Amino acid sequence: MLAIANQKGGVGKTTTAVNLATALAATGEPVLLVDLDPQGNASTGLGVDRAARGQGTYAMLIDGVPAETVIRASGIPHLSIIPSDADLAGAEVELVSTPSRETRLRNSLAPIRNGRFAFVLVDCPPSLGLLTVNGLVAADAVLVPLQCEFYALAGLAQLMGTVERVQRGLNPRLALQGVVLTMYDGRNNLCEQVAADVRGHFHDKVYKTMIPRNVRVSEAPSHGVPVLVYDQRCAGAQAYVSLAAEMLGDE
Ligand code: ADP
Ligand code: MG
Repeated sequence: MLAIANQKGGVGKTTTAVNLATALAATGEPVLLVDLDPQGNASTGLGVDRAARGQGTYAMLIDGVPAETVIRASGIPHLSIIPSDADLAGAEVELVSTPSRETRLRNSLAPIRNGRFAFVLVDCPPSLGLLTVNGLVAADAVLVPLQCEFYALAGLAQLMGTVERVQRGLNPRLALQGVVLTMYDGRNNLCEQVAADVRGHFHDKVYKTMIPRNVRVSEAPSHGVPVLVYDQRCAGAQAYVSLAAEMLGDE
């Protein structure tokens, strides 16, 4: 179970969640994507329209609806989703006064943890609040999409602080799965410099595969499909296939 987290918005978390999940599902293994972001972009990106969402992550986390009830098929073979529901925006505040507020996702997913899915990917919201903490507490490892920009390393240090607090407290076995550089543009000197700095700090925890900036990747969500379906041959889609292969080779 991987939490895809970075408190900064717009760095490629959702894009990575949707397309890595699709690439992993393409190996024939059953994959579950949990949309933990009230914006629900992963749900929309997999064709689960806002109006058709019904019960999802909120119902599971706050109302205690069983995971089995809120899991549904996506349009992609072997890929299931627990969509974000309309009420999820309130969850961050409501969780504060809820019992076992940091472990609710872990507890909700416990019944489906062993057996049904080979991979569970959790798309976290752009904050270090209770929803993301729930993702980190439930997960075996955290995958960090990182956009190569000036403050990237400072933001990463803050995220690692939260990861360490979760490791010291509620989830000692939480590992750093890796950092994946997103929207990479090799013609941009700053981008190249930041990538080198990140590799200098995180060494082999940074995936060799870098996701290039690619317009096809940004077009796909408006069609409600992963870029792997929208244009399988484009550079962005192929990068997510490579990332999945690199990740599977690591294990
Ligand atoms: P986050 O979930 O971290 O907020 P998103 O995955 O939603 O970030 O990405 C932010 C925006 O950048 C979206 O509009 C998305 O389509 C676009 N985007 C993400 N990755 C790429 C890429 N490799 N090339 C071009 N656009 C991208
Ligand atoms: Mg997102």
